[in-house]
Amino acid sequence: MVFGPPAWAPKLPFDPPDSVSIPDFLFDEQYGRHPLGYAKNPFTCGLSGATYNALEVKERIDFLARGMAKEFGWSPNNGTEWDKVVNIFSVNTIDYNVLNWAIHRLNGIATPANAVYSQKELEHQLRDSGAKYIFTCLPLLDIAKGAAQTVGIPKTNIYMLELSKEATGGQESPKGYKTVNDLIRIGSKEARLEPLKWEKGQGARQVAFLCYSSGTSGLPKGVMISHRNVIANTLQVTTFEKHYRDTKRDKSLNNQSEYTENGLGLLPMSHIYGLIVICHVGTYRGDGVIVLPRFEMKPYLNAIQTYKIATLYLVPPIIILMTKQKDVVSQFDMSSVDNIFTGAAPLGSETAQELQNQFPSWCIRQGYGLTETCTVVCTTSGHDVWFGSSGSLIPGVQAKIVTVEGVECTGYEERGELVVKSPSVTLGYLHNEKSTKETYIDGWMRTGDEAMVCKAPSGNEHIIITDRIKELIKVKGHQVAPAELEAHLLTHPAVADCCVIQVPDAHSGEIPKAFVVKSPSVGLEENDRHIKRDIQRHVEKHKAKYKWITGGVEFIDVIPKSPSGKILRRFLRDKDKERRTKE
Ligand code: AMP
Repeated sequence: MVFGPPAWAPKLPFDPPDSVSIPDFLFDEQYGRHPLGYAKNPFTCGLSGATYNALEVKERIDFLARGMAKEFGWSPNNGTEWDKVVNIFSVNTIDYNVLNWAIHRLNGIATPANAVYSQKELEHQLRDSGAKYIFTCLPLLDIAKGAAQTVGIPKTNIYMLELSKEATGGQESPKGYKTVNDLIRIGSKEARLEPLKWEKGQGARQVAFLCYSSGTSGLPKGVMISHRNVIANTLQVTTFEKHYRDTKRDKSLNNQSEYTENGLGLLPMSHIYGLIVICHVGTYRGDGVIVLPRFEMKPYLNAIQTYKIATLYLVPPIIILMTKQKDVVSQFDMSSVDNIFTGAAPLGSETAQELQNQFPSWCIRQGYGLTETCTVVCTTSGHDVWFGSSGSLIPGVQAKIVTVEGVECTGYEERGELVVKSPSVTLGYLHNEKSTKETYIDGWMRTGDEAMVCKAPSGNEHIIITDRIKELIKVKGHQVAPAELEAHLLTHPAVADCCVIQVPDAHSGEIPKAFVVKSPSVGLEENDRHIKRDIQRHVEKHKAKYKWITGGVEFIDVIPKSPSGKILRRFLRDKDKERRTKE
């Protein structure tokens, strides 16, 4: 049985265009974008207040593209997009998306990397994506330099995104690196760039972003996201939310024909949620994004108060902190907030209820999506909230629930894998045909998540995510691939074999735990506690913090495997869970 959006949801106003680039779609009024003149300033630094209005942002994109063209020897229509892969390794800044869209203006690909990556992790992405240039920021420069050197990117191909002095503690960018502002200055003196010469349908085929995800198994892979995928999800979310936004507009005092507001830009712009839901949807409908480079409770609360933020885009761990630190939260004026949107990991009903008790007037919404679907598949509308659910399918999405035996469920409350079809379903994994074929099947995409469709109290169909089938751990919304940690653990001399699973954690949602078979070379006299700590340190030395084995190391005689040698991860997960419930 194929499920679709609820009857109340509007249809897409037009087919997501397939021959236009992302920046042209976002800034061209013919696509129904909020008029430039009305819009809020697209990006404002939540620490320093630095900002540009929409027209200035448009000009900065244009000048930056001209400057990059001059410096890199590129022009919009030479070569293919694969000759122009640019890595962005930075915390959030007000120019993060100016850079993304300037890369697109030159027909290039932006590959954003998680700002908490270690050097080795960044090297993997640089190598795999074939990036030729890196844009980084002061606190991450040393890691970027190290990774560039290892993969053979010359130092002269490293550029800087500037941060406010509040974000860097007053440190200036080091000499010898050009900045985005330098490139904009260079570009402002250059002639206009020729327009993109695209064939019909090119926007649906051409990659705009390469974001890394491990998918249903294995190591992080580059997800090829087309211009049309981004445009589609932007249009899908905007269309679905129109109902809720119109209610807000009718309630607002300034009686504008279009409603715009400030949203929180704290979540990483390198992750699909921050990139699409906050930055692209926000810009398309004329909202302001209040940009923060990192999470710290007081500056975060202060930014909400100062910039009168209406929508908080969050992940569950931040919500949990807000409910645990009520005394700190209550020192700030939160009266501008009328709703929150959470995603990237499940928000428990109990936590949602606790936040609701703390802020009775807030509308608490949840969305569900993946990098592979260019984010949102389903989400809650303001008039149809049901805690524990991820809301209804958004316009343009179809979904099926398929059992392990491959049978399509035909009714409500039947559990199986969620399989979706949407114009935002991405093009596949770079350099990995096998995973692409297993995940993208005849226009449908296997999410690797277990879900069921239920009738909400409102009578509308909602999607409830019940479990994760795929080999993925989500720590504070970040992806941790068990296969990546296992491969690394095996390089430790004490590890003969291993398996990494997720265990629940009150703060992070889930954390990794390792089952390890001790290597025969480990002497009997060696202390187990020391070996375990050493194994944990081995991960801490080489991997981003959220990947650390904080769930502990447990020694085991043998890792259970199927006759074909596949780790029976589920078996260990269930056993571990059983033991925890008994304790
Ligand atoms: P990512 O590609 O990093 O966005 O990760 C996507 C995965 O995060 C999904 O396949 C789910 O396993 C998980 N996820 C995202 N949103 C939710 C949600 N609202 N509830 C439960 N799991 C979620």
